[in-house]
Amino acid sequence: MKKLIRGSCLCGGVRFEAEPPFIRASHCHCERCRKHSGTAVCTQARVRREQFRLLAGEELIKVYEGEGAVKAFCVNCGSSLVGGDWPEGAEVSTRMGAFDDDPGIRPQFHTFVADRAPWDEITDKLPQYGEAFPAR
Ligand SMILES: [Zn+2]
Ligand SMILES: [Zn+2]
Repeated sequence: MKKLIRGSCLCGGVRFEAEPPFIRASHCHCERCRKHSGTAVCTQARVRREQFRLLAGEELIKVYEGEGAVKAFCVNCGSSLVGGDWPEGAEVSTRMGAFDDDPGIRPQFHTFVADRAPWDEITDKLPQYGEAFPAR
């Protein structure tokens, strides 16, 4: 049996689990991720939709649409939880800060580095893409 990776929001009202393997993980520096997270990047791990299960708090999840990928968050505490095409879509972009367990996967690259904040200095050696991940 595979180990399930648990995740939750800050207030604990929303809980989910994801079953590895994850597809990929990355840091996104785009303006939307910056504004939504309130920090330099949104670090996310993608998993196939059938490997992601919401356990509690569906009624607490609000989806902000705007342009591009959605931002789904807890209305009670504001935690950023998932993105991509939530609640539809073949993949779920899960916010790594929401994980309660070690998901195993590590961030592999940076996206939208052309949009990063002036104070955001990238100090690791991971590949950097000016815009979106080229495979998508
Ligand atoms: Zn919450
Ligand atoms: Zn982004």
